[in-house]
Amino acid sequence: MATVRSAEAGRRLGIMGGTFDPVHLGHLESAKAVAGAYDLERVMMVLSARPPHKTEGPHATVEQRLAMLEIAAGDHPQLEASDLEVRRAGPSYTVDTVEELARANPADAFFLILGVDAYTEIDTWYRPADLLESANIIVTTRAGTGLDTESIQPPFAARDATCYDSKIGGYLHNSGHTLTTLDIDGLDISASEIRRLAAGGSDVAHLTGKEVAAYIASERVYGARES
Ligand code: ATP
Repeated sequence: MATVRSAEAGRRLGIMGGTFDPVHLGHLESAKAVAGAYDLERVMMVLSARPPHKTEGPHATVEQRLAMLEIAAGDHPQLEASDLEVRRAGPSYTVDTVEELARANPADAFFLILGVDAYTEIDTWYRPADLLESANIIVTTRAGTGLDTESIQPPFAARDATCYDSKIGGYLHNSGHTLTTLDIDGLDISASEIRRLAAGGSDVAHLTGKEVAAYIASERVYGARES
């Protein structure tokens, strides 16, 4: 019988993975909105050092992306930059990260936060069925990407181990972990647009925050020059 895993014993921690090339206000606001809605103590922003899925890029170096993530997260007590995937050799598979965190912190409940654009690719990920064995999944909207709750299904290979639960308005996995959705009032910001603007010498502070924008300009991360 499926039992709902008790989160009372430990912390409720979010995991938001990304290439963060660069991190921007869309990521930060989304992480904070989920933390508020799900009562998360903290959200770990895990830098995907070697993203297995991206066909091009990352454009900035791992060191630059991590530096920007640390600057951005440093301003928000609920957020924390994580270099876990930087320290681990090989491709940055999310399932390895989730399993590593869950193993190391057995009393804590983990919530993997994914934008709907990322979640729709889930069946192409490495061992997608195992994600729900170790963590809850929260799928969020991005501005301009509607969230059709009906179309959010568990990873194909995990469907036999999950059932829809109207009480939580999402799916319950045999492990007790859940797959739910959160419609957030997201910011219509994309990293590719920021890179394009920065490369053209525009100030991107309104999209990334002042300090990250200053780093991009001073380090000429995307070819930007300090004005
Ligand atoms: P690009 O904007 O160039 O497509 P990206 O920002 O989507 O890049 P990542 O840094 O890997 O690429 O995204 C990390 C996570 O943040 C993903 O789950 C993605 O869906 C989510 N995300 C990205 N932008 C936003 C946004 N504006 N609002 C909410 N979530 C976002």
